[in-house]
Amino acid sequence: MKLVFATHNAHKLEEVQKLLPAGVQLQSLAALGHTTAIEETGATLSANAWIKADAIFSQYHTDCFADDTGLEVKALGGAPGVYSARYAGAQANAQANIQKLLRAMEGQSNREAQFRTVIAMHFNGGRYTFEEVVKGQILEQPTGDGGFGYDPVFQPVGYRQSFAQLTLEEKNKISHRGLAMQKLAVFLLSQIR
Ligand code: IMP
Repeated sequence: MKLVFATHNAHKLEEVQKLLPAGVQLQSLAALGHTTAIEETGATLSANAWIKADAIFSQYHTDCFADDTGLEVKALGGAPGVYSARYAGAQANAQANIQKLLRAMEGQSNREAQFRTVIAMHFNGGRYTFEEVVKGQILEQPTGDGGFGYDPVFQPVGYRQSFAQLTLEEKNKISHRGLAMQKLAVFLLSQIR
């Protein structure tokens, strides 16, 4: 079974391929010949995931899915949320986003946060959504140098390490994206049996 993952991120594609049943072969947007970026103009993670999945489905009429993730910080009313990638500005890198977050969290005693992933999928004529969160807290300073994005300042519940100190396998088992993809994998397994 071929399934398009609407992402330009080869690293993500490889990570997700490992989580899916052996009979499912993921195809990237590059393999489809789709090279332009899809604007994420939605106000929610779900809206953005559907914008991407719908764009690919309407153009290529193929089974496909897209994901969108945000970091939701309680003391900041759920920010940066849907704006996580561009929290410190349109061209911001992870370091700038982290610095802005740590400044916003100065003096905050409630450091609870969660990553949320929403996956939107077109499959066999149906529309399916999968969603998962991982709860944790925002550290006072960046710790560890693995992972990406806000990993160095996010410590999942039950762990003494930040996401940036876990191996990819450890992170995948408990992370928002790993859990949401596992839900998708379970669904696909039930469909191909
Ligand atoms: P995306 O929807 O997966 O592209 O995620 C949007 C933004 O959320 C990224 O640019 C990162 O800043 C942040 N993010 C998503 N997933 C993770 C993660 O697993 N660790 C740290 N940051 C993440």
